[in-house]
Amino acid sequence: MMDLAGKTAVVTGGSRGIGRAVCLELARHGANVVLCYAGNEAAANETVAACEALGAKALAVQCDVSDAAQVQALMDAAAKAFGAIHILVNNAGITRDGLLMTMKEADFDAVLAANLKGTFLCMKAVSRPMMKQRYGRIVNLSSVVGLRGNAGQVNYAASKAGVIGMTKSLAKELASRGVTVNAVAPGFIETDMTAAMPEAAKTATLSAIPMSRLGAPEDVARAVAFLASDEAAYITGQVLAVDGGMSM
Ligand code: NAP
Repeated sequence: MMDLAGKTAVVTGGSRGIGRAVCLELARHGANVVLCYAGNEAAANETVAACEALGAKALAVQCDVSDAAQVQALMDAAAKAFGAIHILVNNAGITRDGLLMTMKEADFDAVLAANLKGTFLCMKAVSRPMMKQRYGRIVNLSSVVGLRGNAGQVNYAASKAGVIGMTKSLAKELASRGVTVNAVAPGFIETDMTAAMPEAAKTATLSAIPMSRLGAPEDVARAVAFLASDEAAYITGQVLAVDGGMSM
């Protein structure tokens, strides 16, 4: 049975979707949870209340993960509230889909800033303290799209493939210091991010999933919690697909 009692986790984008489910799963296993959100304060407060209802301590901080000063303020707030950061889940992410020929440069930059640079900044902010305490668990949200590509998502695929490259590189840098760095690559998970997808595209995606169902945020959250636990101490630099078999 995983036990995260006494551990503090920072979860980016914890107000909704997969991030919210991750916060609840970590709270359920006893962790203190610090979640950040971009602008949806009401949803963030609701996640905090749901964590507290599970007996955990939780805190919400507004933070744009693509801004270095805001990221440092987030990590400082977490360390001040709970003493140390043991777990970092880089979950915050956005899409700005479109075919490459018509994709605006601004949409490329925005997705790379939130998904790739945001992950870089958060990992950079916790790396030194995790190294010093000789303990850390970093779990990054990639995507099957980062493994296989997807028409209409050149920007998103680049960011999620980049996350895998950063995960493996930092895993090698920190392996000897008790810090593991892994990624999960969800398939099609039912959240606000995928709600806007046209029905026809959803049906086509469903037919490519061997398990014949879309994923739930909790499916991903359980994998993240495992990688964040002591049970996963000998696993680093890995990408775990949570996709109903879609990427086999
Ligand atoms: P979602 O429902 O759209 O939620 C996105 C979360 O990220 C929200 O909490 C949002 O905060 C936060 N966020 C967005 N930009 C941010 C920024 N610049 N700084 C801080 N927080 C920011 O997304 P989701 O579907 O749960 O996806 C979560 C992660 O899983 C993403 O990295 C996504 O790429 C990845 N993923 C999702 C799927 C899927 O099928 N859903 C598949 C593969 C990978 P606000 O609430 O304040 O807006």
